[in-house]
Amino acid sequence: MSKTLTARLCIGPTDPRVAARLRYSFGAYAALYDLTVVTTGPADVVVAHGPVDEPVDVVIPDGYRVRPGSVPAPSPVWVDGLPSFHRDGSGRPDPLGEVFEWLAAPHEDAAPELDAVGRVPPRYGLARSHGLDLTVPWANRWLARLHTMVRSALPRLPEVPPSPFGSGMTFVASHDLDHLSGDRLVNARRVAKNAAIAFLHDRAPRTTAQIGVATARRVAAHRATADGVRDLLAGEAARGVTATYTAVAASGHRRDPGYRLDDDYVRRTLAEIVDAGHELAVHGSYRSLEGTGLRDEYAAMRAAGYPVRGGRQHWLRHRGGELFTALADSGAEWDSTLGYPDDVGYRHGAAFPFPPYDLTTESPHPLIEIPLAIMERALCATGDAPRDWTTAALDVLRASTDDGWGGVAVLWHDAAFTGTCMPAGLADVYWALLEAGDRWETAGEVAHRARSRWTAAQVLSVATTTATFGALHG
Ligand SMILES: [Zn+2]
Repeated sequence: MSKTLTARLCIGPTDPRVAARLRYSFGAYAALYDLTVVTTGPADVVVAHGPVDEPVDVVIPDGYRVRPGSVPAPSPVWVDGLPSFHRDGSGRPDPLGEVFEWLAAPHEDAAPELDAVGRVPPRYGLARSHGLDLTVPWANRWLARLHTMVRSALPRLPEVPPSPFGSGMTFVASHDLDHLSGDRLVNARRVAKNAAIAFLHDRAPRTTAQIGVATARRVAAHRATADGVRDLLAGEAARGVTATYTAVAASGHRRDPGYRLDDDYVRRTLAEIVDAGHELAVHGSYRSLEGTGLRDEYAAMRAAGYPVRGGRQHWLRHRGGELFTALADSGAEWDSTLGYPDDVGYRHGAAFPFPPYDLTTESPHPLIEIPLAIMERALCATGDAPRDWTTAALDVLRASTDDGWGGVAVLWHDAAFTGTCMPAGLADVYWALLEAGDRWETAGEVAHRARSRWTAAQVLSVATTTATFGALHG
């Protein structure tokens, strides 16, 4: 595509907070559909929200109302097949308001408690709270509705969202390194623990038996018993896929992996990952959101020679905005923490990369979130056979491309490839995804392309993190 078309949003009389939120949502539309937003003057299409005193091309319903921070979203009303949280006086949904509800998730912010690992409980996710299908990217659906309205005024617009990667769909493969050790005793203990969890907690005696057999085989073949990094590297090399691996820089809690960046086995493993062309990123430790923890972990990775640009929280541990503030302070350009730990699907209704919204400053955080759509373990709940898991995984990824181009992440722990941790069929699901004909990019690359879109949408400014990163090094 040559030059992108321009769009301008005119907002009727309202308070600055609502205006900031509507501009953010309109930015999501422009970023997904590759429009350049202009704030003044002429544009290829002018969109009005609420009553404005100038000629416009499209008028969208003015139904968004701000709730107090402690009030969760009310039950949605179904309108033309979509769940609506914000309608105008005539009952017409406000697409910008709907998109804000999903992306910024004020509903999760209103959660009255944390779960056992200190996170906003997944059941307070907007879709989970209201019994909505988690595998439908509802924000994409609302943006598609908005696009139908805008395109009726500007038919030159493409019918579907154009991908910044060209034709086809793009996804991110990521791997969190939750255990790395060259010590036989440490690994034996880890595998014994995996077997006990399969037997007692998951009530999966078949997996317990599988763990025994796989361990014996790997010991006999002199292969790592508790980590599957080499298996993963070999399989990805064979398929020409580059992925993102996250490592824990500092372990300060019993739920952390406990390895050290200067450990010989860890250094060798991370070097193999980098030498194979993959991206190395930060797996924020259990306590990383206390004090300057996360910033120190980014600094430790960089000091160890890994120019990290983003990451994901261990245990997906976060409580909303503080994570993104800490990440911005760390010079991170992306994050991929937002997802359901025990379900597949779209926690923020978004099957596209977006900057999280800061509800305290009423502005976007200056980094890109790559939604986590699938964590391998969650697939076990979708059926009994690995065949069901593959179907479920492919269905979720395909749902992201009906009104989008992908740009979401899947997480397969390296331990899924050893046979000594989880049901062995999960590894085959991963290989099936890589062989399904889509493009696989690193999180850093997807965030970079997405950022240009959000910059053209006037939501983010041109990257400043490179400067921060330079300063951290200088
Ligand atoms: Zn982890």
